[in-house]
This record gives sequence, C-alpha cells and structure tokens, in this order.
Amino acid sequence: MDPSVPDPPEMLTSPPPHMTPDEFRQHGRAVIDWIADYWERVESLPVASTVAPGDIRAMLPDAAPEEAEPFEHLLADLDRVVLPGVTHWQHPGWFAYFPANNSPPSVLADTVSAGLGLIGLLWSASPAMTEIESHVLDWLVDLLSLPGHWKTTSTGGGVLQGSASDATHVALVAARHRASARSGLPATQMVAYTSAQAHSSVEKGANIAGFGVVRLIETDEHRAMRPDALRAAIEADAAAGLVPAFVGSTVGTTGTTAVDPVRAICAIAREHELWHHVDAAYAGTAMICPEFRRHQDGIELVDSYVFNPHKWMMVNFDCSAFYLAEREALTEALSIEPPYLRNAQSDAGNVIDYRNWQVPLGRRFRALKLWWVLRSYGAAALRQMVRHHVAMARELAQRLDDDPRFEIVAPHPFSLVCFRCSPADESQTSQEAADRATDAVAAEVNDSGVAYLTPSKLDGHSIIRVAIGQSRTDREHLDRLWKTISEAAV
Ligand SMILES: *Cc1c(COP(=O)(O)O)cnc(C)c1O
Repeated sequence: MDPSVPDPPEMLTSPPPHMTPDEFRQHGRAVIDWIADYWERVESLPVASTVAPGDIRAMLPDAAPEEAEPFEHLLADLDRVVLPGVTHWQHPGWFAYFPANNSPPSVLADTVSAGLGLIGLLWSASPAMTEIESHVLDWLVDLLSLPGHWKTTSTGGGVLQGSASDATHVALVAARHRASARSGLPATQMVAYTSAQAHSSVEKGANIAGFGVVRLIETDEHRAMRPDALRAAIEADAAAGLVPAFVGSTVGTTGTTAVDPVRAICAIAREHELWHHVDAAYAGTAMICPEFRRHQDGIELVDSYVFNPHKWMMVNFDCSAFYLAEREALTEALSIEPPYLRNAQSDAGNVIDYRNWQVPLGRRFRALKLWWVLRSYGAAALRQMVRHHVAMARELAQRLDDDPRFEIVAPHPFSLVCFRCSPADESQTSQEAADRATDAVAAEVNDSGVAYLTPSKLDGHSIIRVAIGQSRTDREHLDRLWKTISEAAV
C-alpha cells in the first residue's frame, strides 16, 4: 500500500456520465457520415502516409484528459491527427502486400458487434455467437467446395481466429499433442516441415509450440515444395530418432502465390503420420470459383486448413477461417475445465465451446460480419469480384509480357503478379543494373501517391509484387498503375 495515496472518501458512488441515447444517435450518424465521406474521397488521397517517425505522437497532448472533451473534437482529430498517418488500405490504388479489402456491410456488422459488446467464452455466454459462427463456416464449406467432413455437423468444424498465424499455431499444437501421444517423446524431439517459400508464421508457430526443429524444404522452379525433398528430410530425421510431426503446405505463398502439391504431400504425411496443415490465407477466397479448385487438389486428405476472409473476401480484419477434419484432435490438446467455466450444456457435450479451439479465452462476434457480407453480396457477387481481380491481373501480366523492358518472374495463378525490369543479359553487372532499375520503379510508383505496391526480393534479386484485390479497384486504377510503371521504367 502506498501511504501517500489516501483511501477514496466514503460517499455514495454513481455510474459515470455517458452520452445519452440521443447524443449517441447523433454522433453515431456523424461517424457513419465520416466513414462514407472517407470512402468517397480516399481515391484523391496519396495511398501511402508520408509522415516521419514521431510526427503523429507530437500532435498528442502529454497526458490523458482529466475532464471530458466534446465528441466534435474527437471527430475533428480524425482529420487532423489520424488521416495524415494513415496508409490507405482501402484505396483503389492499393496493390501492396495482400489486400485487406473491406465492405460496407462488414463495417456495419463490426459496429453492431461492438454495440452488443459480447465475449463468447462459451456457448452459454451468448449462444447466437457460437451457432451463427458454426453455421456460416459450414456454409463456406459448401461455397468453397471444401470436404464435407469439415462441417461442425460432421467430425470436423470451422472456427474464426484472429489471424492465419493463430490458426497455424494451434494446428501445430494439435500436431504436437497427437505426435506426443503416439511417440511418448517431448516436443523438443519433434520436427515441423514447410517450404522455404512458406509464410514466417509456420516457423514462428512451431517455435511457440516448442518444436525442436523446423525444416524449410526446398522448392522447384515454380517455388512449390518438392515432395521428394520432403520425403528425404522426413526419412533422415526419423532415422536419427527425431519425430516428424507436422507439415505445412501453402496454396498461394505470400512471396509469389506459388502452390504446393497438396495431394503428393498428403501421401507422404499419411505414410509417416504427420499432421498436414494447409495455409491458403490469401488464395482460399478464390475457391468460391470452381475454376481455381484444382490448385488445392487433394484437400480432402488434410488435417487442417486456414484462409483469411479478411484478405480477399470483403470482410474487414480480423477474420481468419480455420477448419479441422477432426475437431477432437484440437480440443483434446487445448481443453482445460476450471470450475467457473463448468455448465450443464458444455458438460453434456451438447454444444461447441470455441474457447477450446483457440489460445485466448475471450472471443469477439466475428461471425456477424462474415454472415452479413455473405448475405449482402451473395456468392455470385463474390465470384464476380474474384474473377474481376484475376482478369485484371492477367491483363497486367499481358502488358508486362508484351514489353521487353519487363519480365514476369513467377506464375500468377490468382491475382498477384510479380515482375522485374529485364536485365540486358545474364552477366552480374546486368543483373545488378536490373535490380537497381526495379527498385527505382517501385520507389517511383510508391512516391506517386496514385498506387502502392511492394518491392521485394526473389532469389536474391529485386522484384515488384502487384496484388490486385482491393474491393474498389477497377481498370482505370490498373491503367493508372501501368502508366506510372511504364513512365518510371527506362
Ligand atoms: C498473409 C499470410 C499469412 C499471415 O496472415 P495473418 O492473418 O496476418 O497471420 C499467412 N500465410 C500466408 C500464405 C499469407 O499470405
């Protein structure tokens, strides 16, 4: 106890002063108007923020206010303080990283979710949260033609996580649990495999889950995992007394959207009793169109799968859909039953308690925005969006292909195109000149303010990634991007 701080005086306490319902209606309308205005004018703003480190903090007072400020001041500071420090992910000239495309119904649903203010720790903490989540994820199984046994009405089930990284982490935990039951050996003896092109979340998740070894398997000329190299690594590890326990394959890698051979990896995983997890964080949304499903041939044989509706399905962050073929394999690894969470429905096994499918206890009502997006657009419009983006990616690729100044550096099965400035020949000097030219094009496009893309490296050389997937992007934006690229290149 700090003796210099006296006890609060004895008095009759009361709740703090809130906005009245009418004030909330008034300010709420102003906020929705602000967002609608933002969406209308976002295209006129430079895509990337140009503030220097510390610029935003310098506009903030040193201490939190002791007395209430009028709401108008808060709203005004969105324009004064926040917007200068915003890089506009919802700009139609957004071609960087992968998209995080949102949509009006998704934003409205998230607002409702905040208004309800629920924490769905268990089914009984708000039954609608769990049941809508299970049901809508079962819908997606049919819409994306995922295996039927992944439905919650069968042996599997879907759950919304905050990120693909979270999903991959808990898949690794389930794999560890299964391998430890089988081998009796500790996690430090276990090996997780993934390709050298896989997302860093696999390695990170394996480290958190305590795996002793992570092996990055080499890839082929299309940057897909080589099954023969995977098999050789597993056999060498098993011979050395280690426990091969997990393999993570990727459908649509972050670097170039390379696609691992899922069916061939499944055969190896089954033979050696590895948990097989598929990361389709970006490309998963494309499976709503039948023509892309061949890229995940063999999917009915995997143990778990994740994709992010918050990347390409117009559901705003965060919303990551994680599926299991056998839900018990995960819940056995994660269930802990303290007395304060016991209740009749859970004890009777009549309900799903999603707390046993994830690391946190508390969870948001994320399913609402997914449900509203699916209902507001309908599957047909989502297919239309995916095909529009993929068509524009092919058009851009065609322009790059037709122009001798550029070369495409990787297949583009979805809507990401990776290219570089062509070197004059194979010599070291020409390669270095091409790297410098590529970096210069990326910098010029990003400085232009009309488009934003990601400079990256592939095999040690500079490349440019153009990810087409913002919900408002259309051909005029692609034309503007192409014009900027073309003028920047020598
Ligand atoms: C974006 C991406 C991730 C990471 O997603 P988070 O939801 O941010 O964790 C993982 N894997 C792949 C292939 C990705 O493209």
